[in-house]
This record gives sequence, structure tokens and C-alpha cells, in this order.
Amino acid sequence: MLGGGESGVGTALLGKAKGYTVFVSDKGKIKASYKEVLIHNEIEWEEGQHSEAKILNADVVMKSPGIPDKVPLVKAIRNKGIAIVSEIEFASKFTDATLIGITGSNGKTTTATLTHHILKGALNVGLAGNIGDSFAKQILEKDHENYVLEISSFQLDDSVDFKPKIAVLLNITPDHLDRYDYQFENYIRSKFRIAMNQTKDDYLIYDADDEVITNHLKTNPVQATVLPFSLEKKIENGAYFENNKLIITIDNNQIIMPTTNLALEGKHNIKNAMAASTVAHLLKIRKQTIRESLENFQGVEHRLEQVLKINKVQYINDSKATNVNATYYALESMDAPTVWIVGGVDKGNDYRELFPFVNEKVKAIICLGVDNEKLMNEFGNMVDIIIETQFMSEAVKIAYKVAEAGDNVLLSPACASFDLFENYEDRGRQFKNAVRNL
Ligand code: ADP
Repeated sequence: MLGGGESGVGTALLGKAKGYTVFVSDKGKIKASYKEVLIHNEIEWEEGQHSEAKILNADVVMKSPGIPDKVPLVKAIRNKGIAIVSEIEFASKFTDATLIGITGSNGKTTTATLTHHILKGALNVGLAGNIGDSFAKQILEKDHENYVLEISSFQLDDSVDFKPKIAVLLNITPDHLDRYDYQFENYIRSKFRIAMNQTKDDYLIYDADDEVITNHLKTNPVQATVLPFSLEKKIENGAYFENNKLIITIDNNQIIMPTTNLALEGKHNIKNAMAASTVAHLLKIRKQTIRESLENFQGVEHRLEQVLKINKVQYINDSKATNVNATYYALESMDAPTVWIVGGVDKGNDYRELFPFVNEKVKAIICLGVDNEKLMNEFGNMVDIIIETQFMSEAVKIAYKVAEAGDNVLLSPACASFDLFENYEDRGRQFKNAVRNL
């Protein structure tokens, strides 16, 4: 196991139970709670280094998705012809469950959580992948009949035989290109690996409004039965949206549901709801259950999360927006003048698609990052107020001063968080604490 996090430790436990001799190696520090598990289960481990000789002796290496291919040790493993697999790949061999794999550049966690939320009333279903307890550990401790799996492109890169019964491809926008030789095409191909082993008895649910996806499908058709969803056009076999109603048809079996009471806001969430409901309809969940679940789903922390209303100003935490596309949907869904907190580590962002929303809805910008120059240049002449800071507490205090009754204060950074924060969760929590302390 390369990497002693949730997926590495889970795979070690499952591997050991299945008769493998396992070894966990992490170049960084392993969390105390994971160390305890390893020690308790008499699993050999190391941290702060990789014992190369030992690792190059393995039959199979499970690599954490966070470790890039360009790391010399990974290259050495490949050169020796040792198989490198993802946790999902390794673990899926040990379960007969129906697998629902959800991927895309944005919306994976939201859609996976929502799908699980709808299914869990009627089916025995686990939620895994990048969320919560690892897939491997769940198979070992309490296998389910179905799993909703959140799958990143990194996990797909190290998958060979992974074959979900139902695959969901939400969208593809440029992200993580540093891991794909800066070739968007490589990243697109990686996302489509979710469907590579599917046959016509399996399903691929995808966004028919996403041109990257539809263009790729034109030249690279898939074996799976496709179920597109769309906000823009009628779909005969699949899902679409018309007059605030969601219409899903699978093999002439149609359900129609109103979306006026949807708990989640924003166009992107209607898409997520369409994808999740299509999965549910495929699995024969009753329409009533789907509708109620859509109405009472409370969303996921740090994704357009409504924090508090203070002096009639709504504070919204969208710290998980680590790229421009996610922020696009956040700004799009704002229905009041907005004070926007943005910034962090810019991954080569192209901000142009945000300009119309900024002109229309944003009254002030607070740049929160170590280096705010690009933001100041791009947006400086678009709003009356643009201020920079390197402290969350200060950013929130400024927002409080600038915002007036009826406004929103939105943290949607469009950037990674590692300059000032541990991760996006830390950034979101600091935002919420600062708001609560106002
Ligand atoms: P992921 O797990 O793919 O990173 P999340 O569900 O955590 O996705 O959401 C990440 C960010 O993207 C949040 O800011 C969220 O509001 C936004 N988002 C959610 N769904 C979509 C979507 N379908 N398209 C674009 N952005 C989305």
C-alpha cells in the first residue's frame, strides 16, 4: 500500500483478511488513529520514507489516488512490471454488490451523497469512494448489496477491470491538468474509463448538455446503454427538465416529478438531482420516495452551504469550489447582490466565464490569498470595491461592513486552499467560525 490514509489502511485490512501479506508505506506521517488500526491488526507499516527494495518485491501495489505517476518510486514499480491498482479496483473484486460509480469534474460528492440518500430508504446501500469509510473496509466489515461510489479520475487511472453496473458522468471541465501532462484530452479519456468495461447490460448516465462529453462520445461510442440527461432539450430515453418538472423515461417507463420544492439550489443541483433520480428510477425506487428524498436532502457541508443570516445578510460557504466551473454555478445561483470572497492557489484559472455574473451580481470582491495580484488585475475595474487580505476573520469582517440587508456574502474561492489553509474543509470551517463570531 502506498499511502497510509483511509483507502490505504482499508485496503490493507481487506488484503490481510483475504490472505495477502500486506505492507503500508507512507512518505509523510500516518495519522495516529490509522497507526492504531495497523498496530492492532498486526499490519507492517512505515512512515516518513518508502523502503524501495521491499516495495519493489511486491506482487501488487495499491497506490493512493493522491500520489502522482511522476514520482520516481511509482515509475520504478511500473518499470519492474508490478501491477499498480486503485483501492476501488482492488476492493471491487471482493464483492458481488451492484456498483454505482459517479464521476465528473464537479458535483461528485453532492450527487453520490444525494443518490445514497434516495436509495437508502429502499435498498441496502453503502456510500464510499472519496467519502467516509473506505470501500475496502466496508466490504470487509459489513458488505452491502449496493454501493454508491464517488470516483475521481485518479482512481480511474489505476483501474483495469472496474465495471460499475451504473456509471454517472456529470461533467468534464479542465481540472488537475498538472497530473495529465497539461493535455485536456488525457483527462477526458481518464474520466471515460468509468465506462471502459461496461457492456450493453450496464448503464452510462451523462450530461447531454456538456459538449466535451457529447463530442467525445461521437467519436468514441461506449458499449453501455446510455441514459443522457439535459436541462435544455427533450430526452426520449433518459431525463430532462421542463416547466419546473423533472421527466425521466427508461424503456417507456416514465416518471414526472415537480422540482419546485427541491432542497438544493442552483442549476447545477438540478443536474445533480436528475442524475441521482435517474439512478433511482433505474433501480426501481418509487417516485414518491425519490421526490421526498429530493425535498429533504440537506446538502453537503462546504457546498453552497447556508451558514447564517445576520442583519438580513445571508452568509454562504462554498469553500469546496476549488475551480472556476464550481464558482460559475455558485455565482449563477446568487439571486441577490453578492459580496464575493475569492482566491487561494490559482491552478492556471481562466476567469473570463465569470465576468458576466460578476458584472451583474457582485457588488464587492474580497481577495483572500497569499498572492492576489491576478484577481486584482482581472476584476479590479469590474466592481466598486475590491480589497485584499490574508486572514479569513478579516475577510468576513470586511464583508460584514460592506454588505447591506438583502445581500449575500459568498465564499466561493475558485482556487485551491493550500496557501493559507490546511484544506478546503479548514477554510470552510474558519469561514463559518468567523461568521458566527460576528
Ligand atoms: P466534487 O466531489 O466533484 O468535488 P462537490 O459535490 O464536492 O464535487 O462540489 C464541488 C463544488 O462544485 C461545489 O462548489 C459545488 O457547489 C459545485 N458543484 C456541485 N455540483 C456541480 C455540477 N454539477 N457542476 C458544476 N459545479 C458543481
